[in-house]
Amino acid sequence: MKFCTSCGGAIVLRVPSGDNRERYVCRNCGEIHYQNPKIVVGCLVESDDKVLLCRRAIEPRYGLWTLPAGFMENGETAAQGAIRETLEEANASVSVEMLYSLINIPHINQVYLIFHARLADPGFSAGSESLDVALFSREEIPWTGIAFPAVTKTLEWYFADKSRGFLTTHTGDIIRPLKSQ
Ligand SMILES: [Zn+2]
Repeated sequence: MKFCTSCGGAIVLRVPSGDNRERYVCRNCGEIHYQNPKIVVGCLVESDDKVLLCRRAIEPRYGLWTLPAGFMENGETAAQGAIRETLEEANASVSVEMLYSLINIPHINQVYLIFHARLADPGFSAGSESLDVALFSREEIPWTGIAFPAVTKTLEWYFADKSRGFLTTHTGDIIRPLKSQ
């Protein structure tokens, strides 16, 4: 950050009085521009014991498979954001059943909230950010072609839960990128 979004003044990085870490502070108006983690919301959509995956038509990770998910917008709840992202990326109308995974990724300042959901209507197709959308059984999941570690983790929890016979909310952390991804 170089210029203040309030007044256009120059920004310096310094520790404000009473604070304990560096912030972007405007030298002109004094506004402190706090930067905080972003929330990624999405859906693990289940249909007939299969899971809906989208093949990315955008960078990063073009061509790899992911759950429909994206950054939460102002003015919406986490579940509304997850439903919106699923509609945008997979043209799928879903009903959310429960929060399924909460994954912290501190090194990229993101928190994933993935909801378990079911198709409200049977149809789905690739949205503008997807090359393809399809349902996968456990055996069909393209494990080496998954776009993000948080998606792999969520899918692993899901299929382990299915083996046990019930779903429960999971929380976890990804501390650094997996070498294979
Ligand atoms: Zn300013």
